[in-house]
Amino acid sequence: MLKINDLHVNYGGISAVKGISIQVPEKSIVTLIGANGAGKSTTLRTIMNLVKPSQGEIIFQGENIVGKDTIDIVARGITLVPEGRRVFANLTVLENLKIGAYLQKNGIEEQILEVYDLFPRLKERSWQMAGTLSGGEQQMLAVGRALMARPKLIMMDEPSLGLAPLIVNGIFDIIKEINKLGTTILLIEQNANKALKVADYGYVLETGNITMEGKGRELMQNEKIKEAYLGTSKK
Ligand code: ATP
Repeated sequence: MLKINDLHVNYGGISAVKGISIQVPEKSIVTLIGANGAGKSTTLRTIMNLVKPSQGEIIFQGENIVGKDTIDIVARGITLVPEGRRVFANLTVLENLKIGAYLQKNGIEEQILEVYDLFPRLKERSWQMAGTLSGGEQQMLAVGRALMARPKLIMMDEPSLGLAPLIVNGIFDIIKEINKLGTTILLIEQNANKALKVADYGYVLETGNITMEGKGRELMQNEKIKEAYLGTSKK
């Protein structure tokens, strides 16, 4: 569904992504793991054309989307759940969801009901100001808002960041559920353990380069990954 070929991204003189190639097959969950500053968010922001690459191709459903307007990219079926959730604090839960459907002409009510089915908590709090939701609820809202556009590919930037362990488990259950319902997922995580457990395939990003890749379960067994990212090495 998504194929990135030799992507390079610079911020001024700083090279943040140095020629990465990744593939996200339809209906899969693919994860990018890596430490702070590895270039994970930059990759997602470049896919949305919020940042421009200096070189490389981003092929979505057979077409190179580099240079396309972000609104066009959303219309083609890609949405991003940004790091830090970025809900509209002074709007209600329902208003936030409606904003996610800004390109939709019909079916909005049905889509709201689908999101409420996935997140009953949001339904209960539909009139609450988003800024007064708990961190976990705001993350649910950010994911729900991205789903309002009926994406084919949903990209999530560190959905578990800053959340309590129990809430994190809930978020990962939802990720699996969304995938089962047919949406392809590209997930960025520092919580490598959880991410590799749900992912069909994973890439390890280090200072702008892919240093390892493989099936999620296989990467979890890799000694280097255990040592660097999982904290479960026997050494
Ligand atoms: P984190 O997990 O901390 O979010 P990341 O892997 O997502 O890290 P990026 O946010 O993509 O990493 O950052 C990659 C590199 O690019 C870092 O060195 C960062 O300082 C730099 N960078 C990111 N955004 C900008 C910007 N707007 N201007 C200049 N440099 C930037």
